[in-house]
Amino acid sequence: MENKHIELNGIPAAPGLAHGEIVIIQQVDLDVPEFEISDFDEEIARLDRAIEISLNDLRLIKARVKANAKSDEAEIFEAHQMFLQDEALVGKAKTHIKSGINAEKAWMTAVNHFASMMESIPDPTLSSRAVDIRDVGKRVLAHLLGKSLGRKELIRPSIIVGIDLTPSDTASLDRDLVLGFCTAEGGPTSHTAILAKSFGLPAVVGLGDRLLDFPEGTTFLIDGNVGSVIANPSEESQQMFINREVKTKAEFELARDAAQKPAVTGDGDRVEVVANIGGVEDAPLGIIYGAEGVGLFRTEFLYLGRDSLPTEEEQVRAYCEVFKHYAGLPFVVRTLDIGGDKVIPYLDLPQELNPFLGWRGVRMLDGMRDIFMAQFRALLQAGEIEKVDLRIMVPMVSGLQEIFAVKQLMAEAKDSLRSEGKPCKEDAQFGIMVEVPSAALLADRLAKHVDFFSIGTNDLTQYTLAVDRTNRKVSHLANPLNPAVLRLIKLTIDSAHAEGKWVGLCGELAGEPMAAPILVGFRLDEFSMSPVSVPLIKQVMQKLHRNECAKFAETVLQLSTQQEVVDACHDFLVERDLINK
Ligand code: PEP
Ligand code: MG
Repeated sequence: MENKHIELNGIPAAPGLAHGEIVIIQQVDLDVPEFEISDFDEEIARLDRAIEISLNDLRLIKARVKANAKSDEAEIFEAHQMFLQDEALVGKAKTHIKSGINAEKAWMTAVNHFASMMESIPDPTLSSRAVDIRDVGKRVLAHLLGKSLGRKELIRPSIIVGIDLTPSDTASLDRDLVLGFCTAEGGPTSHTAILAKSFGLPAVVGLGDRLLDFPEGTTFLIDGNVGSVIANPSEESQQMFINREVKTKAEFELARDAAQKPAVTGDGDRVEVVANIGGVEDAPLGIIYGAEGVGLFRTEFLYLGRDSLPTEEEQVRAYCEVFKHYAGLPFVVRTLDIGGDKVIPYLDLPQELNPFLGWRGVRMLDGMRDIFMAQFRALLQAGEIEKVDLRIMVPMVSGLQEIFAVKQLMAEAKDSLRSEGKPCKEDAQFGIMVEVPSAALLADRLAKHVDFFSIGTNDLTQYTLAVDRTNRKVSHLANPLNPAVLRLIKLTIDSAHAEGKWVGLCGELAGEPMAAPILVGFRLDEFSMSPVSVPLIKQVMQKLHRNECAKFAETVLQLSTQQEVVDACHDFLVERDLINK
């Protein structure tokens, strides 16, 4: 490729700016030999040995990663270990060996089979885990062949470029020398994205095959906020970029310090800025980044990646582990939200033609009552033990009947705990997620029967605009700043306030500075977002004035298209020096 200024656009996967020379991580292609065998036992022993050595590698990598306090990454390698201990995967490979196939071919056939199964799951978070099976599969294959995986040693600070980086690729890198990541493939939930976020480094993914044409050593400027990359920049554009980088870094550090104070608007109005968390590992992050509690605790992690339901006792333990970081603070837990794009294999859920419109979220109460009862009982116990200000909400509510059914269940859960003399959080608030348009349209009726609403703009947007959020062909159309979605948000907030109830928003929109003026103008009470977004949003809040935002929000509601809203928000923030032009 010529040595000229080229701009590439991809998907923003982790925020931040970085500049530097690229190092390309090439995946080594290992050929899979195929030959007939006669000694099945010897071949099975070869496979067992390769798996054992791989498990040993993973133990070492995990220990190293943990020593660097990278718990997200350590979790990934734990999942790799689990794959290698999975009877279904290893058993399938051994069955192939017993039919006369050599260990390498038998192993890779089983790996490919399970990876393809995983890829066919519509949930992007789960389907992207296929990369883990292939990654760990390759590790075992390399040991069977006696070959190296060809990992790269960095000698200077570099931007890492690859097709789609696997956890093993990144684990071997010296973190202190990584400036950022760019990949040709991958989506916002790919490993590259998860790891980059946990390192606090920028990443741009899905840049296309052109990315791989640049020779090693090419200078890149990467912007993880918007998903753009400039290769071979001119001296002048590089200098401008570096100035922006220095300014942004300093701003983030200031914002993080300031984030330890409560969020208030410029005119002294209090807003709550809280965290979205998804498991035991990321529970402390909210506090670290200055969140004032939790606005969405996704509980699916407890049910995924295992082969049977968690018991009530197991759940109490896990919830206590999470709650203990937030004693005395507001803590909103969302009950199990499966179905749709979230599949739990051991529940044997029926295949549906339109899973997003199917049996999901609270709708599963009808048919899976025991699962919900165990969860409510566990939450009420853990909430009392750890003394959090517990608020329980249910997802996918579309009407009043579901609210009545859940309240009945909650009352029974409390009764049973009382009669068994177990701890019980008697004053836990009860709320619903407003993420189905019917719930927003009926918010005035629903508000009378709940303590709060939390608006789930991720789903509310997909249902309002009829855009499947997991379908890459149309997902760009799913912008919550669409005036249709904004009208529903406003309606929900006003309806709740008329009944004296509070409203939060826990979709991605809450952590989006562009949306803050509108949401402050709508008088949203609680903003819940990924912990890393907390400092910036708190900083933005300080520069907003309620009345000015209310006027702006009114103007925005008169607009007709999503682009007009985006442009108006952009101009509003630029005028107040909250974002760069
Ligand atoms: C939402 O729909 O906005 C939400 C927060 O829930 P999830 O993304 O888990 O569906
Ligand atoms: Mg949702």
